[in-house]
Amino acid sequence: MKSVEPAPPAAGPVMSAAHPHVLVVEDEPKTRESVAEGLRLEDWRVTTAVSGDEAVQAIERAPFDLLILDWMLPGMDGLALLRHIRARGNHTPALLLTARGAVDDRVAGLEGGADDYLPKPFAFAELLARCRALLRRPVLSSGAALSCGDLQLDTRTRTAQRAGQSIPLTPREVDILEYLMRYQGQNVTREMLEREVWKQTRRFTALDNVIDVQMMRLRRKLDDGGAEPLIHTVRGIGYRLGPDPA
Ligand code: CA
Repeated sequence: MKSVEPAPPAAGPVMSAAHPHVLVVEDEPKTRESVAEGLRLEDWRVTTAVSGDEAVQAIERAPFDLLILDWMLPGMDGLALLRHIRARGNHTPALLLTARGAVDDRVAGLEGGADDYLPKPFAFAELLARCRALLRRPVLSSGAALSCGDLQLDTRTRTAQRAGQSIPLTPREVDILEYLMRYQGQNVTREMLEREVWKQTRRFTALDNVIDVQMMRLRRKLDDGGAEPLIHTVRGIGYRLGPDPA
C-alpha cells in the first residue's frame, strides 16, 4: 500500500517569485516604457528610474528582486550605480543593458557587479528570458546556505551559525533572519516583515511593537559576545542586515 506523503512543512519566507519587483533604470523613454510595460504584462511589479541617482533613492526605499540597468545614464552611469550598491552589500541580481558591444566593456560590466549583460538592440523575449534566469539564481547562496560575513543560515535544516558557533533560534527568528539575509544590504521595512514573515496584510493593530521586540531578541542572539553588529536599525524605515551600518 502506498503511503501518503505528509504535507511539506510550511515554507519560510519566499521571494515574491510570482510577482517579482523589478527596478528598470533607463533615461531613454521609449526603451524604459516598453520594458516596463512588457514586464507589467507578465504581472511583475515594476518601478522605473531615469538616472543613477534616482535609482539609488528607489533602492534605499524598497528592496527589489531584480535590477535592469542601462549602462549609459546621465550622472552616475549604470556601472557606477552597480559599484555603489555592491560596495554597500547589496547583491540584488542585475542585468546591464548597453549599446556597447565590445568584449572589454562586457568584462568591465561583469567585474563591476553585473550578473548578466544584454546588448542593445534586444528582443523583449530575450530580455525576459535573461531576467527569469537571474531570478532563479539564488542570491548569495550555494544550495540551502545563505551567508553574510561570518553568519551562516542553512535554510534546509533551519540552523544558524556565527563564526562557527551555533545560534539557537525560534522558528519565527529563522523566518526573519532568512528574509533579512535574502535582502541583505537593503532596507527592509516593518510592513515587508508583516507581509512576508507574519503573513499579515491587514490588521487593526500594527505589528510594529511585536516586530521590534523580535528584532531586539534576534539581534541580541546574533551579536552576542561582542561580535560585529549585523542588524542595523534604519531610522524611519526599518532594518538592514549587513556588516556595514551605512
Ligand atoms: Ca541610456
